[in-house]
Amino acid sequence: MAEREGLFHAFLIKYAEIGIKGKNRYLFEDALMRQIRFALRGAEGKFSVRKETGRIYVEEEGAFDPDEVTERLGRVFGISGICPMVQFEYKEFADIRERVVDYAGRVHPEGNFTFKVQTKRANKGFPMDSNEINARLGEALLEAYPSLKVNVHEPDVFFYVEVRERVNLYSRVLPGPGGMPVGTSGKAMLLLSGGIDSPVAGYMTAKRGVSIDAVYFHAPPYTSERAKQKVVDLAKIVSRYSGPMKLHVINFTDIQLCIYDQCPHEELTIIMRRYMMRIAEAIAKESGALALVTGESIGQVASQTLPSLACTGEVCDLPVIRPVIGFDKQEIVDIALKIDTFETSIQPFEDCCTIFVAKHPVIKPNRKIIRRSEEKLAGKIEEMVKTALETREVVEIQAP
Ligand code: ATP
Ligand code: MG
Repeated sequence: MAEREGLFHAFLIKYAEIGIKGKNRYLFEDALMRQIRFALRGAEGKFSVRKETGRIYVEEEGAFDPDEVTERLGRVFGISGICPMVQFEYKEFADIRERVVDYAGRVHPEGNFTFKVQTKRANKGFPMDSNEINARLGEALLEAYPSLKVNVHEPDVFFYVEVRERVNLYSRVLPGPGGMPVGTSGKAMLLLSGGIDSPVAGYMTAKRGVSIDAVYFHAPPYTSERAKQKVVDLAKIVSRYSGPMKLHVINFTDIQLCIYDQCPHEELTIIMRRYMMRIAEAIAKESGALALVTGESIGQVASQTLPSLACTGEVCDLPVIRPVIGFDKQEIVDIALKIDTFETSIQPFEDCCTIFVAKHPVIKPNRKIIRRSEEKLAGKIEEMVKTALETREVVEIQAP
């Protein structure tokens, strides 16, 4: 393994190219490179990320930890494959042959497998065509390692040889996370609570190339500083995938108390939720976000029936995206575990919604009745919303 690690000094990044022609292609590649640079920030080593005719390369300029790099690249949406690669200079075919034979012995020392050489010749000045290079390299490998066999239909190992200005040589393709590079699909405002669902919802939105800002509502002194820190920690984990984000922390206490005083208690949750949506939308519009994102999933809790979703959704005109709507709790938990938010989400801190929650909340809110209840807030609540917006704290989240 040590030998292998010393061997690789670059990664070839594969991305699905469907639908990215012309100008879109540049936007896609540039966003992908930006996200790769961000993901590698803070990693051991120094890296350069560059593109060259339909390829993105990550090259290391000093000592680095290949496992750390592949793990970080594994979080960059838009990447479909990560190929640890050897790059070398050549003058003639013998140089290539020698390096390929050496590579095969070091990277696949097991010695007993079927293979196929797949060459791409981008240097049209090279005196052999790709079929000839395939055949000659195949022969050289069989000669050097007699236990190998060629299988052109279903080989165990592909040796990819790209003859460009230099040669790129690789045989392992580690899966990337797929999706689209963040920054290619606009921005959305995530309502981020300390729960399990909303970080997953943010992750899934970012996966489609949407950049994310977030808003969190807290109710000091009913909710603690540690509850807030938990949300900051969750935002940091999500930002490993989504890139840097702004987290808007809204003091929701006065609004909640006002609703508590004026409105029927079984309507508290739904009315509170409507104010969250209104405030999140105001921040979204101001930040250029084009949608709101929540972690709601039908039927999970009382406030997440279709009538409830309709009732909270009606107060804003931006679309509300609910990426986990069709998931069972366990499916959401599985993603939370995969993206590493779960352990943080289950820390037991109070949430502003649960503190004022009624014993028997309405599960099929009637919108007319809810609107009428909200009229009782008129004259006071507008000022409170304004103050909440003005006094918000904005936390700049950079991934750890
Ligand atoms: P989560 O696990 O995301 O907290 P949940 O199952 O606890 O979801 P609810 O508490 O009903 O569900 O909240 C539904 C959604 O409303 C959340 O997914 C989140 O998007 C938003 N939300 C709830 N509370 C807050 C809050 N304090 N700050 C920001 N958004 C919130
Ligand atoms: Mg919650």
